[in-house]
Amino acid sequence: MASPPNVVCGACFVPMRPARIGVTVEAVARIGPYYQANADLYECPGCKATVLWGFGRPFHHNEPGYQAGTTEYTIVLE
Ligand SMILES: [Zn+2]
Repeated sequence: MASPPNVVCGACFVPMRPARIGVTVEAVARIGPYYQANADLYECPGCKATVLWGFGRPFHHNEPGYQAGTTEYTIVLE
């Protein structure tokens, strides 16, 4: 039996495919850089839309060794 897909495109209704596993992401809040984490980049085979998904354990800005601005992607927290 097939397993349910992880992520489905909301425009095309097809499962999205992993494009890059383990990209680095920094989340920025109103106070500034807040945490960094690894995530996976998925892409829709139809419309080519992408999502960052599957975030790992966050590394917070107040932990020793945090270096802001060193990730591949930056996301904005509301
Ligand atoms: Zn799509």
